[in-house]
This record gives sequence, structure tokens and C-alpha cells, in this order.
Amino acid sequence: FHDLRATPAAEQQTTLAARIAAEGRTPFDLGNGPLVRTACFVLSDRETVLLLTAHHIVLDGWSANQLLEEVGEIYSKGAGALTALAPLLPFSSFAVRENRRREAGEFADNERFWIDKFTGRSPRLELPTDRPRPAAKSYSGATFETDLGPELMAGLKQLSARHGCSLYVTLLSSFQLLLHRLAQQENVVVGISTAAQSLLDGASLVGHAVSFLPMLSEITAADTVADHMKRTRAALLDAQDHQEFTFGSLLRKLPLTRESGRTPLIEVQFNLEKVGANVRFDGLRADIRTNPKQFVNTDLFLNVIESAAGLHLACDYNTQLFDGTTISRWLDHWAELLRNEVADPAAGVTAISVLTAPQRTQLITDLNRTAIDFGVSEAFPAIVLRQAAATPSRVAIECGGRQWTYAELAEYATTLARRLLAEGLLPGGLIAICIERSLEMVGAMLAVTLAGGAYVPLDPRHPRERLAGIIADAGIALLLTGRDPSITTEARLLNITGPQPRGTAALPERLAPDALAYVIYTSGSTGTPKGVAIEHAALSNLLRSMAREPGLTADDTLVAVTTLSFDIAALELLLPLTVGARLVVATDEQVTNGGLLLRLLEDTRATVLQATPGAWRILLDAGWASTASVAPLKVLCGGEALPRDLADQLLARSPDVWNVYGPTETTIWSSATRVAAGTGPLRIGPPIANTQFYVLDAAQRLLPLGAVGELCIGGAGLARGYWQRTELTAEKFVPNPFGSGRLYRTGDLARTHADGTVELLGRSDFQVKIRGYRIELGEIEAVLAGHAVVREAIVLDRRSGANTVLVAFVDTPSEATAEFVAELHALLTRSLPAYMLPQTILPLRSLPRLPNGKVDRNALRKLGDGMGEAPAPKQPITPPANEPERQMLGIWQDILQGKEFGTTQSIFELGADSLAIFRIAARAQRDGIAIKATDIFERRTIAALCAAAAPQEAAKSQKGTAPVPTKGPQRIAAAPRAGYRLVQ
Ligand code: AMP
Ligand code: MG
Repeated sequence: FHDLRATPAAEQQTTLAARIAAEGRTPFDLGNGPLVRTACFVLSDRETVLLLTAHHIVLDGWSANQLLEEVGEIYSKGAGALTALAPLLPFSSFAVRENRRREAGEFADNERFWIDKFTGRSPRLELPTDRPRPAAKSYSGATFETDLGPELMAGLKQLSARHGCSLYVTLLSSFQLLLHRLAQQENVVVGISTAAQSLLDGASLVGHAVSFLPMLSEITAADTVADHMKRTRAALLDAQDHQEFTFGSLLRKLPLTRESGRTPLIEVQFNLEKVGANVRFDGLRADIRTNPKQFVNTDLFLNVIESAAGLHLACDYNTQLFDGTTISRWLDHWAELLRNEVADPAAGVTAISVLTAPQRTQLITDLNRTAIDFGVSEAFPAIVLRQAAATPSRVAIECGGRQWTYAELAEYATTLARRLLAEGLLPGGLIAICIERSLEMVGAMLAVTLAGGAYVPLDPRHPRERLAGIIADAGIALLLTGRDPSITTEARLLNITGPQPRGTAALPERLAPDALAYVIYTSGSTGTPKGVAIEHAALSNLLRSMAREPGLTADDTLVAVTTLSFDIAALELLLPLTVGARLVVATDEQVTNGGLLLRLLEDTRATVLQATPGAWRILLDAGWASTASVAPLKVLCGGEALPRDLADQLLARSPDVWNVYGPTETTIWSSATRVAAGTGPLRIGPPIANTQFYVLDAAQRLLPLGAVGELCIGGAGLARGYWQRTELTAEKFVPNPFGSGRLYRTGDLARTHADGTVELLGRSDFQVKIRGYRIELGEIEAVLAGHAVVREAIVLDRRSGANTVLVAFVDTPSEATAEFVAELHALLTRSLPAYMLPQTILPLRSLPRLPNGKVDRNALRKLGDGMGEAPAPKQPITPPANEPERQMLGIWQDILQGKEFGTTQSIFELGADSLAIFRIAARAQRDGIAIKATDIFERRTIAALCAAAAPQEAAKSQKGTAPVPTKGPQRIAAAPRAGYRLVQ
């Protein structure tokens, strides 16, 4: 267990020795061996240091005490005392004896005891490290030391006595609780050491006779502190009864997965010792100190040294994983926990606090100093009208070659608002907007709210069934659309393009801050989308905060690219109009074509663009090369995690990159974080104005810095709740225990760092993001389960290069035929938007299950591995036949990384999703090849694509010209149908 190579005695240069040497003192060498060094330093005629450095393999804690006691005896009584010392058992005879016992099978029962304890579970302690764990373990370490005063020690001794426990049990049980709190794990393994000398009947033994006992404790939520102490006492007695075994041979017998970066089974140690309690040097006062370590075996070793002065804590830690400040903070937590245990041993183990008062203040208040008084809360329509009055002739919106000045926008919106009132819109009523991207789309948002209503944004390209479901759920009676509504519904359709009838209805004077601005639908885990109801005050707060930071002024031009049915569109479409900036609404065609979008940015000299990471990649693929072609662009990236590689690419093109984060339920964005160059995952925070972040455990209790929990958001951005879903609203929006109002439970796993930034670590549920779109896998599963012969369906997400793809497993008695899969696909296509369609559907006779009857998702995950990755089996790989094919193959390989294919594999066989196809098109256009995403959808193979492009290619003027925009309607296939294939 102790790695000699890693901690050679020669390198155990102690800091004390170094300090003394630095003071220029010469030590008297008292003798050195390969594993032991001793030295004596005379500091003054009254003060001397005896320094003993030994490798652990020749001297354990028990032996060190023994040695010091005997040296003290001899010092005090003279050499004559030598003969009076207890007889010494040579280490060799101890070793031989132990070996004989082992061979005789004397330890077999003990070993069995430990094997049984750990069979089927080897809980690995996942302490929140300051740095990612290196692949290869390092032993560099340090020791942090502090003291718990005599008062606390006395309290702990009383507590122990009252519950029939030793101080050791009390401290160990408390340390387990601390680790449980930091790691948020129920099972905690702490290594403790026992000395074989204690079983020797008084003979003394100097050497290494330590046994490691891996103490596994289960933290039972219903336990009080006193209960847990008793459990620990029982476990300890049991462990001590089985202490005679060899740790190394136990490890070999346990089915542990070994990792090179970690020690097996025990990664944290605990010990309580009384160093030198019986050491006497006549006529001298002897202080015995341990030296700080520079090399450590385990990640953390808390050594408690008991003396009359109190408890001295010396905590060794691995410096590759932890900072000293973290260890210091953890020991503060522990001291606080111990104080609280003494004060209230009847407190529950999961409820008792580990946070000191200053730590609480830091987490609740200091990290959330976001209060900004924006004055009277004014709804955005009023702000826009005021803007229009101030700058009537400025250009407000442009879209597809048309434009409106602020005056024209105000005129359009007030006219339509009057018309809506005449149509019977009641205050607070909901009106759907389902129209192609246009000036009117934005005008309608303003009109509905000006009239005192709330709008429900719909994407006309979504399947009818889905739109109909939302219209029914929201109780929509009126739907604003264009000349050619591609929607059939019982709600009344109103064409809002073309000349509007003028009405005289009076518009409401002032909108109440708590009036609804919009209700937006997002994926619902139970099978139908759910509406999120946002009030004006929340929207105004977001707009004002974002206008300050990242910042937007009247001089800006923002190009809006996001579909109206995604809440972040509201920021793009409304923010510019509230500050007098110019809004350019990219058309449906421009937003799906990287080349055209890039051209739009150049032509409009855009200064701000907000997009999802996927959309930014498309733009990069389209050749957004530098700030030269596009004016210095403020980059807002959000909707899903911004990967470091993408952040670096964006930073290379703009100094002004912002990672924006926020759920729909807290109104678009809850934080906007300026991205700096660096390494490691990006962080978010601090929250935007009047917004608070807290990382909480499952019972909404504040977690210490670093511990992983759920990010909960409070403040001005919170939605009113889910539209007509009282129960779901109560579950997700909970009372704020730290202030007024409520908190929204995001479901995002997060940890707070010491500098106040928050690191996001994935989801605690089955919500995934694809191209920024939020998807509850349960919604897709529910649709599949709606098929007559489907018993159950499970949908999993998996990474494929930079993309996420979905795989559906269907439990069905039906034959797994291509027809059946096509039927399921058709079912999904009827009610789900393209981004929610799985790339692969796999019918199974039964789903793998866990002993408790639940579906074994890990087993499914393994089954799904490689799906959609490899080309169809046995298909020959056709090499490129000419230069265009070679060029195209290069582009495909860049985007569909890690796959092997030729010119005859279909794009869908390769598991490409539409994002990948858009990226290929963008890249090709950049390289001067005139193809569009639709061409790839239609032709599917490189060979077919290049054959079709050949005539155009010949006509092409010169390399590097901008993509040729094609004439006629451009339709992007909604779903990659051919992407469905049977995988056996
Ligand atoms: P939505 O309601 O569609 O805005 O989705 C909100 C969820 O998207 C959040 O709860 C996160 O899981 C994820 N998300 C949004 N923005 C970011 C970001 N900048 N970094 C990481 N995750 C994000
Ligand atoms: Mg959002």
C-alpha cells in the first residue's frame, strides 16, 4: 500500500529541516540509514531540536511513540535504563509469525467479512476537487494544520461519554458526515488504521504493523447525530474484530475497477492519536510535532492529535487535486459541524449545518449582490413607444429587403392592437403568433402586449398536431398569421400582413407589472409540451439588465436568428427596440444557410449576434474568419453548454464573447458571463440584475462551496408558473428559504467555486439539449408508447462528435421490420418537431431491466454504442473518383469525425443530423462549392452530390466567390427520413 518508489526516504526532506538549514545552522548528524535520518540542532543553550525522519515502512505511529518514550527514559535515567526497557520483539519474527498464520488460513474469515462488505458495491468517494484528477496519480502533497480548542474537545468528550462512545468514534462518525456532505454521497469509505502492536500482549514491536480497515458507512437520512455515532461504534467494533487480514490481498480479491489516477478502495484516511502522551525528558519540556508532508499516499488524510491543549488537526492532501484554502475551508466546516453536534446531538444527520455564519453570508448574500433599481417597472411596449416618439425616423426593423422605421413600427403595432381589442381580446387573454419570419412577426408581439394580451409564439414549421395541442392547452381563440397560413385549427386565423383596418378602441394606459407578456411552450416530460407564463416585470428586468451588460445601445445592429418558439428569440427581437437600436430579422432562408447568414452580417454591419453553440459552429464553417469581414461583433452564445474549443474559436474572432445561461422559467437568461481565454470548462455567473443563484441539496438546503447540487434561481426573472399546471408549478417553484419570493429548481447540476463562479455539470433528469432546443426524453417516449403494440419506449441521448443524437429503444412484441420502424417514425413525425426525432429506432422483444424492475439504461446505453456511427455493414468504401469528390469527402470527414466512409454512403447512414448537414453545406459554400443543405438532404451521397453539382461547377466563375443564392423556394426537409434504419 505504501509505495516506496513514490515516497523514497531520501526525498522526505522536511520543511523544518529546510528551515533550520536556511538559518545556517549545522546539524549534528545522529546517524543516517537508507530509511531513517536523524539530526540534532542546537538552537540556543536552552533549545534543541531532535529531528527524526523515517520511512513509514520501518516506523509506524505506535512505534514512533515507543521510540520516543524509550529515548526519554534513557535521557532521564541514564544508560542504565536500557536494561529495564520492555523486551523487543524483532520485526522479522513478527513477520514470520504473521505469515505462518496467514498460510494456516487464520485470516480467511476476516477477509471473507470484508469481501462480503464490498461485493457488489465499491463506493468511490467523489470529493469536489479543485482541479480535474490527472490520469496518472501524483503523490505531491502538503499538510494543512489547525487546532480545535480545549473547550470544543471537552464538549466532544462529554458528548461521547453521554452516548457511550469513545472520542475516536465521535470524531470518525462526524468526519464521515462531513465527507457525505461534501461529496453528496450516501456511502462513504474512510480508511482507518489499527496497530497490530495492540494485540501483542505488552511486547514491544518497532516497525510497520499497521492494518488498514476500509470503513464503509451508509449515511441514513433518518438518523440523528447520536444514532450515527452508535452505528459507527458498532461498525468499528465489528471492524476491529476482523482487523487481522492483509489489505493488499483483500484488494486483489475484490472486483474493483482499478484506475491509474486513484488509489483503490481507500482514498481518504482518518486517524486519532496521542503523540508523545507518555514521553518524559527529565528537566526538559518536550514538544512533539509532526512535520508537514510533501508526499502523500491518499487524497486526504485527516490526522487528529489529542493533547491537553485540545485537538490538533494535521490534514495531508494531494496538491494536484486540492488547494490549501479548500482544505482550510473544509476543516472550518468540520469544526462547525462538531460544535453543532455538541450543541444538538438530536439533530438529523442530513440537516445539521456545516456552514459557519460567515460562510452562509457569503453564499446567500455576497455572491448574490445583484440588486439594481431600474426605477418604475415599465412594460416593454411602453418603452418601445417612447423610443418611437423620440426617434421616429430611425430604422427599427429590417427583414428580407423590407424595413420599418420606429414610427412605422409604432403605427403598425397600435393599429393591430386596436384591431385585436375590437376582435374581443380581453385583458390578459392569450393570442398565438404563428407566422414566417417577417416585420409583422415582431409587430405582432408588440401589438398583442400593447393591447394588454399575452402572446404565444409558435413555429409554423412544427407539425400540425403539436401546434394544435398547444393551441388547445393554452385555450387560444385567435391566431395571428400571414397570407398563407400553413395551419389548420379551430382558432380563428387573422392575417396580419397587408393593410390593416383602423380601429378606435382605446389601448390600456399602463400594463401592470404582473400582467402576462407571453406564454411559451417547452417540452414536457409527461408527453405534452408545457406553457411557461412570463410576466412583464420579469421580461423588463431581463431587458434592462442585458442592455447594461453585455450591453446594447442605439448604435447597435442586432441580427436575430432564433425561431420565435425558443424563448431567447424575445431577447433578440425586443431588446434592440427598447434601446433604439436597429433590428435585422434574418429570414427563414438566411437562418438555415450559413453562407447567407454570413453575408447578412457583412451587409448589415451587424454588431451583435446571439446564437446557440451549434449555430455559431455553422457560421464558423461558413468561413467567418475574422473581425475584418464582419464589424467587431458582440457574441452571445447560450442555450446549451459552450464548449471550450468553440469559445476559443469565437475569442479568436471577437474580443467580446458572452456565455449566456438561463432556463425559460426564469425568463430567457439568468446570467451573462464574459468569456476569457483559458483552459477547462467555462463557468457561469454572477447572476443578472436582481437575480440570485443558490446551489442546494435535494431538500433545498444550502450546500458548501464546491459541493455538487441543483442550481436554484431566485429573483425578478421567475415565471408566474406553468400555464394551468398548479402541481407542476408547486414542484418546480418553491418558497425561497433565504429571502422573499420563490426559487426555480433548474434541474441543472452545479457547484459554486470560491471565486463565486458556478460550474454546470449536466442534468439531474432526462432533459437534453439538441441544437439549443430543450427536449424532455419522456415526451418522445410517451409518443412512441402511444403506438398500439408498443409496451414501453426509452430514448437515450448520445454524443456523436460535436453533436448529440437520440436513439429510441422500443419494447414491443412486433417483428423488428423496416415497415414497423417506418410506422413509428411516421407517428413521431406527426407530433414532434424535427429536432426531437431520434436518429435510430430499435425495436426489442424486451428491455433490459434492473433487479428492481426499472429499465437498465446503462445496458441500453451499451447497446446503443456505435449506433448511427458506423457505415452500414459490408458496404464497400468507394474512394473519391475525382477532385470535387475528394474535396467533398474531406469536408464530410471534418464534420462527421471518427467515421469511415466513401462516396456512396448515404449521409443518413452515417448518423448525421440536420446540424451536421447544415455545417457541411456551410463549409462547402465557404470553399466555393455551390451546394445547399437541401441538396445534401436530397442527393444523400457524395457521388450523387458531386454528379449533380458538376454542370454548375463548370459554370462557376472563380474559386472563392460567395455562395450563389438559389432562386425559388428553398425547403429544408423537416426530418432526415432516410436516417431511420433498422439496427440489428
Ligand atoms: P431553455 O429553457 O430552453 O432555455 O433551457 C434551459 C437549459 O439549457 C438550462 O437549464 C441548461 O441546462 C441549458 N443551458 C442554457 N444555457 C446554457 C449555458 N450557457 N451553459 C450551459 N447550459 C445551458
Ligand atoms: Mg433559456
